[in-house]
Amino acid sequence: MPDTLTLPRLDDLHVHLRQDALAAQVAPLTWTGGAGRVLVMPNLRPALTTVEAVLAYRAALQAIEPRLDYLMSICLHPGLDRSAVRAAAAAGIRVLKWYPHGVTTNSSLTGSLSECAEACAAAQDEGLIVSLHGEAPDDPAQGIDRMNAEQAFLPQLVALHQRFPRLRIIFEHATSAAAISTLADLGPTVAATITPHHLLLTADDWQTDPHSYCKPVAKTAADRAALQAVVASGDPRYFLGSDSAPHPAAAKAGNQPAAGIFTAPILAPLLADIFDTLGCLDQLPAFATTRGAAFYDLPPAQGRISLQRRPSRIPAQINGLIPLRAGHDLKWTLGACKE
Ligand SMILES: [Zn+2]
Repeated sequence: MPDTLTLPRLDDLHVHLRQDALAAQVAPLTWTGGAGRVLVMPNLRPALTTVEAVLAYRAALQAIEPRLDYLMSICLHPGLDRSAVRAAAAAGIRVLKWYPHGVTTNSSLTGSLSECAEACAAAQDEGLIVSLHGEAPDDPAQGIDRMNAEQAFLPQLVALHQRFPRLRIIFEHATSAAAISTLADLGPTVAATITPHHLLLTADDWQTDPHSYCKPVAKTAADRAALQAVVASGDPRYFLGSDSAPHPAAAKAGNQPAAGIFTAPILAPLLADIFDTLGCLDQLPAFATTRGAAFYDLPPAQGRISLQRRPSRIPAQINGLIPLRAGHDLKWTLGACKE
């Protein structure tokens, strides 16, 4: 077992860097956590629905933290027509991100996937990726709740792939055994991101800890085992998207805490700890630096980080933001890095 691990800076292909004062804290912490290239999510207030708004957001992020390489996404919504998708591609935007109505932070304007067919067809032609937050809305009459909302969405994923077989689709933050088995039957144009927290947590965690609560929620031990098995297997269609999503401490307090788990500042040592514990440390470089780049068609990840096998303590809070497993120890430490 190696005691030192040297990697390119991580490709974190699903992050929430937030905006304004919160972004000014979060973007630098994302760099110090080991990421180099990030796919930035567009669910700001207001949501990023135009090319101009996405480019202005990228410029703001570059002014805050110029060392990160920002890959941008735009909200996929029914108003996005073919010419808008072409303009997005021409501006270097990589991803059209779809949120189901009302499921996540600032997702109130999104229409149904079938209402977005023109944009999906254009994305297929232009080589853009469609990225899905795959959850059906809660519906007590249909028996749909947080624990099975992902499974209830899967027929829509299959239908989108069948309608647009050349369209690259990312099923974001897969959390269930049902999702893994559905993806096994789909073609190479469909991939999935997996978060570190879904490799660690089950429903027992978020029921008692608001800082372990996110959407989609962590599910059963059997679901977690399916995620662990697929990352250990080396399947090239699964790669890192941390879904790191900080909220101010006040939004995490009370009876209805905001959904989102903050892992960006501890991302590299957290992943090393998880993969080490799972006995698949050899899979970490591909999971976090090459498979996502291959699916996105990106050049190899740049920079260098070095991890050492010695304990590091996760801070109790960082600038008032509380990370996952605050106060606990990780088996790995991210060394000081210049690049
Ligand atoms: Zn997210």
